[in-house]
Amino acid sequence: MRQNGAHPGGKGPAVDVSFILDGLNERQREAVTAPEQPVLVLAGAGSGKTRVLVHRAAWLMRVQGVSPQGLLAVTFTNKAAAEMRGRIEALLGMPAANLWVGTFHGLAHRLLRIHWREAGLVQGFQILDSEDQLRLIKRMVKSMDLEDSSVEPKELRAFINKQKDEGRRPEHLEAYNDHTQRQFVSLYKTYEETCERSGLVDFAELLLRAHELWLNNDELLAHYRNRFSHLLVDEFQDTNTIQYAWLRVLAGNSGLPFFVGDDDQSIYGWRGARIEHLHHFARHFPNTLTVRLEQNYRSTGTILKAANALIANNSERMGKELWTAGDDGEPISVYSAFNERDEAEFVVGRVRDWVGQGGRRDEVAVLYRSNAQSRSFEEALINAGMPYRVYGGLRFFERAEIKDALAYLRLIENRDDDASFERVVNLPTRGIGARSVELLRAYARANATSMWRAAGAMIGDGLTRRAANAVHGFLRLIESLAESTHGYELHEQVDTVIQRSGLIEHFEKDGSERGQARVENLQELVTAARGFTAEDDDLSTLALFLSHAALEAGEGQSTDSSDCLQLMTMHSAKGLEFSIVFMCGLEEGLFPHRRSVGDASGMEEERRLCYVGTTRAMKKLYLTHAEQRRLHGVDNRSFPSRFINELPPELLEEVRPSLSISRPIQQPASPASTTGAAFKLGQRVRHGKFGDGIVLNCEGHGAHTRLQVNFETEGTKWLVMAYANLEVL
Ligand code: ATP
Ligand code: MG
Repeated sequence: MRQNGAHPGGKGPAVDVSFILDGLNERQREAVTAPEQPVLVLAGAGSGKTRVLVHRAAWLMRVQGVSPQGLLAVTFTNKAAAEMRGRIEALLGMPAANLWVGTFHGLAHRLLRIHWREAGLVQGFQILDSEDQLRLIKRMVKSMDLEDSSVEPKELRAFINKQKDEGRRPEHLEAYNDHTQRQFVSLYKTYEETCERSGLVDFAELLLRAHELWLNNDELLAHYRNRFSHLLVDEFQDTNTIQYAWLRVLAGNSGLPFFVGDDDQSIYGWRGARIEHLHHFARHFPNTLTVRLEQNYRSTGTILKAANALIANNSERMGKELWTAGDDGEPISVYSAFNERDEAEFVVGRVRDWVGQGGRRDEVAVLYRSNAQSRSFEEALINAGMPYRVYGGLRFFERAEIKDALAYLRLIENRDDDASFERVVNLPTRGIGARSVELLRAYARANATSMWRAAGAMIGDGLTRRAANAVHGFLRLIESLAESTHGYELHEQVDTVIQRSGLIEHFEKDGSERGQARVENLQELVTAARGFTAEDDDLSTLALFLSHAALEAGEGQSTDSSDCLQLMTMHSAKGLEFSIVFMCGLEEGLFPHRRSVGDASGMEEERRLCYVGTTRAMKKLYLTHAEQRRLHGVDNRSFPSRFINELPPELLEEVRPSLSISRPIQQPASPASTTGAAFKLGQRVRHGKFGDGIVLNCEGHGAHTRLQVNFETEGTKWLVMAYANLEVL
């Protein structure tokens, strides 16, 4: 080991390390320059944890002489991983190609690709994303003809994933007594067999297999222990059991973990993350150096005080308080909207003001609790002609037509992929009806084989002549696509497949705008393929592209870098920062989510999520809630979230919809009202032509009184009250 002669205050540094240490405070330097021992950085939001991790990586390579190959860096999303690599390379001033940086899933996948044989997989194994997994489970349950048909596929999926996340195979579960549990265990086993046969690996399986790879292969483990001497993990508070187990086994007695995390930001308990890992770390890794960072560099004093006050309501905390040397900044603005459209209009208006003053849109984030909330913002943004990008929701690789094309490509790579076979065997329609597919399925099941093989066997016997011909045609199509595109560039291969499979023609025939959009998306897939570069030579580029599509689907976004407003859930905002943040839909039942109300630990997790959202803001934070909200097609009246009440009132300022009006208006908006009706803001009204709506605003006096009404179908309109003939509802 090289001596750490570069420590500040030491005798003349061996290497000039000011580029690593400048811009770090004393505590941060302590962590970055720590001697070779386990390190846990336990620190609040915006205190520089990620920064410290990046600088530690540079320090290890530049000062300690660790080769890039000796580091393994793990972060939470692909986006964060790409950023981390970029920041490390920028610090070092050179590319670090051999450095492994990725998400747990990405790294596990990389290992399994290299060691597929030791992991007991087929070489061309493909990844099932969670929607494909559900489809496969549905089909499986249906084909089994269970006496008890009450098995809920989503529940079964959750059960299977949970077991895998805890490292349990069906054989570890046999002892259960309970009937449902027994049934689930047996279905878990059947599911495993189906995946095995089809060469399919779901997300949870990636992690479990990678863990078993360590447990079952001593030599391999010894090799990687020797190689990865330093393990760097960001967002450690959100690791689940299997991820932590994987890290611990890899570290063994000699590996050096450098983990950073914040117990107050643990927000994936519902997906199996275990905050206890933070508590147990020092016990598991003797001689741990724990560093705490409490100075926040991100947010204004006001935002920080609000975050501190909010999280103080949680009881299960390791306890820490953030402070900043910066100014208090502006108060936090709270806007009570009438409904979700009004809420969206408000946000758009404020963003427009910001842009008008020269601000960039991509410095502004709109955060919400559930993906479905993005719709009302998207509508308002489209109306306003403002560019935006939604993170999450239906992503490119998750779109139906893209999955159709990928299914063809997957079959080319692996004929036994049942999920893909079923998806496209009759798409476009080629005369293979549900009955024939049913027969193939039954045969495959009875003979423990794949649908592809079943099809081959049944062409001569077991299908009607017409069906047999059609099935034969399909098998020939796939074989010939595989043969004729062999050796093609990836994008040529994709292009040929979308043409010759008949998918393009199928969607073109549709004639609708939607069909056209699908054709364009398929063409976009060719573009995506053209831009794809494979990192691994051992496998076909196609196989790697398909894995990339499945892994990216979790968060994939086009790389378009134009200046867009950022829309995302609070979960996906973890680790990011924005000048301006709108936290929207702060309503009881929505945030905190109704699932967690009444459950103490669930409520604490919701509050941590609110803390995460709050601490994303650098300069200005807006909180909005609506009195009435239509979500999933149902109108609900709602009450402001308890989280707003938990903030010190002196930090808040209420935004009023219009300066001339204070709300609620107790009196009739105009004494000269022709109907004599009392129009209050927020009042529901009916118009003869425009239908039902809500009064948003009111201007003028007497006969000139004008009302702004937001109609459900017609949008917002200004009406002269004297002529509008509005009926109060
Ligand atoms: P989170 O908990 O949200 O992930 P974090 O603890 O990882 O936050 P960083 O994202 O690393 O915090 O840092 C927050 C911001 O503060 C970044 O903009 C970072 O560049 C800046 N920062 C961190 N440390 C310093 C410092 N010593 N001097 C100046 N700026 C700093
Ligand atoms: Mg961070």
